[in-house]
Amino acid sequence: MAKRKPFVGGNWKMNLHLSEALALTEELAAKFRATDKVDVVICPAFAYLAQVGQVLKKAGSGIKLGAQDCYFEANGAFTGEVSLSMLKDVGVSVVLTGHSERRHVLGESDELINRKTRAALAAGLEVILCVGEKLEQREAGMTDGVNLGQTSLGLAGVKPEQMSKVTIAYEPVWAIGTGKTATPADAQAAHARIRSFVKSGLYNEAIGDGLRIQYGGSVKPANAAELFGQADIDGGLIGGASLKAADFLAILDGAVQ
Ligand code: PEP
Repeated sequence: MAKRKPFVGGNWKMNLHLSEALALTEELAAKFRATDKVDVVICPAFAYLAQVGQVLKKAGSGIKLGAQDCYFEANGAFTGEVSLSMLKDVGVSVVLTGHSERRHVLGESDELINRKTRAALAAGLEVILCVGEKLEQREAGMTDGVNLGQTSLGLAGVKPEQMSKVTIAYEPVWAIGTGKTATPADAQAAHARIRSFVKSGLYNEAIGDGLRIQYGGSVKPANAAELFGQADIDGGLIGGASLKAADFLAILDGAVQ
């Protein structure tokens, strides 16, 4: 089977003020040209989505605009939250759900993550559902159990025909922002296990074969190509290294093999 088109995301988290976010977007948009070889999304902080989106639109670079989170209700008394129609209004087409910082710092449950995932798909957006084990879970031999549990709870109620808009990001929590990266072999093994579960436990062969599974956790220019070269790794979700244009562009090069 031909490998899936890689998908690389830049998760800027709560970093970069407006002028920095716009300068980075302008540089990426000027230097990256849409190709049939890789899909790219950048996810700035909520406050700057509209302005970053305008730069992307003007530049016509093909880089997608993503949100780091969303709320599942359409409108109403949910102070501090942002709805999917508001995100769409400013040009967002991709939403992250279940990022490990939402799970483990902000305390989001699998049920909440699932509601966000289903609402985003119902609104016609693409979803990157993040899963991954903590260090103590890895050491206790629970890596696959955690990944498969988060995958199945996150996707509960997602219809087969919606799965073409879903990407899974496997992000071992101990590798995020720590400089520690899963070895390509360990990451490949976790990805293969998730894919086979999607094929035979949750959906079917065709959906599992088509599903893009990104790796995230201290990806940098020096390790991107080897990680992305693994059979079941279809690009990556990049935090720290997505904040510098040169690094992110070099990682995109690593995805095009
Ligand atoms: C992330 O934020 O999803 C991430 C993987 O961060 P980093 O690349 O900094 O580890």
